[in-house]
Amino acid sequence: MASRTPLMAGNWKMNQDHLQATHLVQKLDWTLRDAKHDHAAVEVAVLAPFTDLRSVQTLVEGDKLDLRYGAQDLSQHDSGAYTGDISGAFLAKLGCTYVAVGHSERREGHGETDELLNAKVKAAYKHGLTPILCCGEALDVRKEGRQVEHVLAQIEADLAGLPEEQAKSIVIAYEPIWAIGTGEVATPEDAQEVCGAIRGKLAELYSAELADGVRILYGGSVKSGNVAQIMAKEDVDGALVGGASLDPEEFAKIARYQ
Ligand code: PEP
Repeated sequence: MASRTPLMAGNWKMNQDHLQATHLVQKLDWTLRDAKHDHAAVEVAVLAPFTDLRSVQTLVEGDKLDLRYGAQDLSQHDSGAYTGDISGAFLAKLGCTYVAVGHSERREGHGETDELLNAKVKAAYKHGLTPILCCGEALDVRKEGRQVEHVLAQIEADLAGLPEEQAKSIVIAYEPIWAIGTGEVATPEDAQEVCGAIRGKLAELYSAELADGVRILYGGSVKSGNVAQIMAKEDVDGALVGGASLDPEEFAKIARYQ
């Protein structure tokens, strides 16, 4: 098995103005330093609102922090008459490493289709960003037992035509919608079932070697009290953390799950 560096990514959603963001990043960094966190062993990243990114960049680059950061969405276009949209080129200039693509709050709340998300994944790579591609099923799909089929169809559509050279660095986040922000966490077995199936799909679409190297995260009500059991599953390589990432001490504990 390839050694995959775990990634703990905090999704702040629409929380934290740029001043609050500065404090949160500082506190997170201090807490991780106090705990002697080894960033080479477990990567820690925050996905901040667009308006915070310049402040986060100033802090991370100015103080040479080991934290990575990124955005929660990007436009499929490079530039032009797209009022309100943000280009991946702008995110790259702000030093972003990551960009989330296809979070369920965008799929559901903004009607983002797999076709659009496919274009966004390609736009991220075009600008040198690593997409964290989110996928996951709603409760009705899970109740019908169609979660694997549903998620694999999303992955296949969202990665259509993406060359192996790019796909090999993608991060995929499996986030069952019924577990996001609800306090309802999937069991480690639920997480493994779908994350394992995603890895199998990557092997089918690309190669076993590529599949072995791709990081697959679980997201949905992850806390310091449940992260270790989920991380113990062989195909789970990290977590996408919403609510709990707004508390720097809790998020630092999640990052130090071992
Ligand atoms: C998320 O926003 O991606 C998420 C998983 O949220 P929470 O951890 O709050 O469920």
